[in-house]
Amino acid sequence: MTADYDRLQKGESMSWEENVRKVVPYVPGEQPKIKNIIKLNTNENPYSPSPFVYKAYEEVDLDDYRKYPDPTCSVLVDSIADFYGVKKENVFVGVGSDDVLAMAFLTFFNSDKPILFPDITYSFYDVWADLYRIPYKQIPLKDDFTIDPEDYKGENGGVVIANPNAPTGVKLPLEAIEEIIKSNRDVVVIVDEAYVDFGAESALPLIDKYDNLLVVRTYSKSRSLAGLRIGYAFGCEKLIKYLLDAKFSFNSYTMNMPSLTLGAAAMRDREYFEKTTAKVVETRERFKVELRALGFEFADSATNFVFARHPERSGKEIFEYLRSNGIIVRRFDKPRISEYLRISIGTDEEMDKLISALKEIV
Ligand SMILES: *Cc1c(COP(=O)(O)O)cnc(C)c1O
Repeated sequence: MTADYDRLQKGESMSWEENVRKVVPYVPGEQPKIKNIIKLNTNENPYSPSPFVYKAYEEVDLDDYRKYPDPTCSVLVDSIADFYGVKKENVFVGVGSDDVLAMAFLTFFNSDKPILFPDITYSFYDVWADLYRIPYKQIPLKDDFTIDPEDYKGENGGVVIANPNAPTGVKLPLEAIEEIIKSNRDVVVIVDEAYVDFGAESALPLIDKYDNLLVVRTYSKSRSLAGLRIGYAFGCEKLIKYLLDAKFSFNSYTMNMPSLTLGAAAMRDREYFEKTTAKVVETRERFKVELRALGFEFADSATNFVFARHPERSGKEIFEYLRSNGIIVRRFDKPRISEYLRISIGTDEEMDKLISALKEIV
């Protein structure tokens, strides 16, 4: 007792701590409590969810919530299978694509060889690899932030590619993605398509051709439902079955009732989805022109954000200036990209305010 007390006082670790799985967690972009800010830091959609979601919400019977939700998530899985014209056996759903990806890492990456992903990419990949003790190798993007498929041809325990990539916004043509899948038939290749709806070609049609391909998607960006936490994945039946086995060994009820019913409702509204994504793309293209006119430099973005730097002003300086003017963007204090700002595409009005603010500083 006293010995323990002394150790604690001295800040020394207790013996139980030797057996703790120590991790350095992922840090998501901030969700400020302040009202009236322009929030362009986490790539959420500026438009409301589909009216179909509002209607389904009105029809919710709270008494149903006494019961457990459907562990097979059939209403949601069926809506996704219908929308994309695949079989329900090809679809897996999770609590955001973060959950889907975490489950996929756990299920598919169990080799002694390192998994491969770019040095600049979604910063959760190395966190999951560390959490699960999966060896990994981060492959440098080329200077123009593109991925060279040749770099993904060595021996490895699996591959993860975000396409388009984040936070760069750069897309890889489908032929290059296919080349990576084809040269890695003995491991699983995960293609994270969180932003694909804003302008890249999906690898979805390849799931029939390659049984080692998992395509991961989310409701958080193109379907305006980050708050509901819904992600999904496509793969061959066998791959999906392995994912389900792992999921049912972890938590049978990952998806709550509102996610199932409201998520299915959102998926049924193709027209609204197409209209809102087209609007985001239109705003992005206009924003690119204005940003370039202010001297910003950026690789062409196929997403709902632009990753840009200014040759004469530091990333930190612009970030702080914008923040003090009520505009929040994202900056990563990491090698190669610390001068860049990742700016989510908001409404036209929000982007106009951002441009006006930028004109004051650059
Ligand atoms: C936003 C994002 C995710 C996670 O999305 P959720 O579905 O909200 O968990 C996954 N991958 C990339 C590249 C993202 O940008």
